[in-house]
Amino acid sequence: MRHFWGNFEVKTPQLLIPTPQAIDMLTGHPGFRPHVTPVQLFNKATDPFLPGVKPHLFDVLRGLDERGLTNLVLLITRFRVTDADMAALEQLRNLRVTLLFTYSGITDPRVEPIAKSAITLTSLATACRAGTRTKVILYWRPIVPGWNDDPATMARVLDAGRDADAIVFTGYYHKEQNAGYLRSLGVEVPYADGYDRRKVMPAEVDEKVIAAWRASGATVPLFRKTSCGVCFAHGVPDYNGHWGVSELCDICPQTQRALCRDAHRPPTAGQLRRILDQLGYDTPALLDGGHLWTNGLTEQQRYPIQHQLGFQVWDLDLPHFAHAHGRSLHGHQPGEQELADVAAARERMAMQARFDDD
Ligand code: SF4
Repeated sequence: MRHFWGNFEVKTPQLLIPTPQAIDMLTGHPGFRPHVTPVQLFNKATDPFLPGVKPHLFDVLRGLDERGLTNLVLLITRFRVTDADMAALEQLRNLRVTLLFTYSGITDPRVEPIAKSAITLTSLATACRAGTRTKVILYWRPIVPGWNDDPATMARVLDAGRDADAIVFTGYYHKEQNAGYLRSLGVEVPYADGYDRRKVMPAEVDEKVIAAWRASGATVPLFRKTSCGVCFAHGVPDYNGHWGVSELCDICPQTQRALCRDAHRPPTAGQLRRILDQLGYDTPALLDGGHLWTNGLTEQQRYPIQHQLGFQVWDLDLPHFAHAHGRSLHGHQPGEQELADVAAARERMAMQARFDDD
């Protein structure tokens, strides 16, 4: 990911601000809600368990925990997680922490150095053994045709996750910088040049993954969405309201489906207005099935609304389509009706805006 954030060459983590200031900035952010907002620490390809980063990670965790905050916290890692780390995580009393171990099963060293994968697998096993209040997810990514979608590799990944609380799978960021770098190493990238801001997970690969999981007899639940895996692990409804995107839920355990179904409520106009006012945002809005259309808000602006509502908040210019929610359209074909629905929503919102102006 550092390829497209422009910091690929930065190999040594840099402390940008002191830890107490980082905690204050997080908890004082207008989009942060105590006990509600899910928090991911070190999410720009800086592994939180790197030796130079870990002390800060634990300082932040303790700092938030001591404030009595119960927010869900996501820590994504491929690095060394020890028994001592797990003991420290288990001592937290309030935060609900999930460790997500990125592991793809790819054995081509140009894509995934073998030594790193071995570290990840050891860490995953350590975390599964020691985690009680700390939840553990095998983050199966990226899955790419020709790289790691053969039956043997899939079976190996599923076996690695057998003791985790959940497995979450997803695709690869097909960005020009990533593809260029991999091709320069001689790696075959199976997608053409249609680069996208969303990850690629063609429908047929999705089907393959589900079939492999079913055939493996695995008892650990599998999820398409990170938030779904995290919420299942902690026994709470999905904070992103994916229940409104029903085709995501066919592989979810019944008990979790009941939790999400019971919690899923379309927002009232008053609720939405209060949140927008509090955040200082303005947007036309339209309820449409299981989601709320908005227009002109950035992803960072839509997410706090989504988390507070527990309801999907979409942008008209970045629509989602069936079986491709949050995914690039590589390997998916939106139906005519879906495209017509987006056009109709756009028209209705334009009408709304005109009436508002009147
Ligand atoms: S029921 Fe659907 S929305 Fe809820 S966690 Fe499962 S997959 Fe996600």
